[in-house]
Amino acid sequence: MENPTTKVSHYHVILLFGPPGSGKGTWGKLLDLVPGFYHFSTGEMFRMLDVDSEIGQHIMENMRRGELVPDEITFDLWQQHLINATLIGRFHPQKDILILDGFPRTPKQAEMLKSIADVKLILKLDCANREILVERLHRRAILEGRLDDANQQVIRRRFEVYDAEVEKTLTHFSDNLIEALDVAVAPVRILSAIGEVMARRLA
Ligand code: AMP
Repeated sequence: MENPTTKVSHYHVILLFGPPGSGKGTWGKLLDLVPGFYHFSTGEMFRMLDVDSEIGQHIMENMRRGELVPDEITFDLWQQHLINATLIGRFHPQKDILILDGFPRTPKQAEMLKSIADVKLILKLDCANREILVERLHRRAILEGRLDDANQQVIRRRFEVYDAEVEKTLTHFSDNLIEALDVAVAPVRILSAIGEVMARRLA
């Protein structure tokens, strides 16, 4: 008999791309409230790890510097989380659409994902003036106590890492899947743009 704790499903996926502060988490959490959607953030997954464990310390060290966590560790933990979410009935891979926030972040992760997922849409959140995002990150650092949002140097490094990887990662997917959204506008307009895109692409 197949072991349900190691079984990997074929996922139906929407990807949220965007630099730090672009709102992936905010909009992902909101979409999670819509029946049939399950939002999953790899950044959140890492922040919930036990920092006293060896793996937790290794991951935290990368995050504190604004660097990426190695691909293999990320992919293994990502898969395990989804298997667990399926086992407890929170996520139903056959019928739910998985909203991935912050994964994939490298070409290798994109290839790993493609081997087990059908990507339906990619929402690329960004804006021309990154200072707007830096301002948002400052506010979030105070409200949520996020260390990687508090340090200017780390924030700049996270932008650099995002800019260095994003286009290389996106080339692994068809251009037709990508919808770019400007996040410098009022939140209600972003919400409306996301709703419009989803209705047009998925209905
Ligand atoms: P986020 O909450 O998406 O901004 O992610 C916070 C941090 O978690 C990033 O700066 C990385 O250190 C790490 N991280 C999140 N997702 C990934 C990923 N897919 N691959 C590698 N590192 C990641």
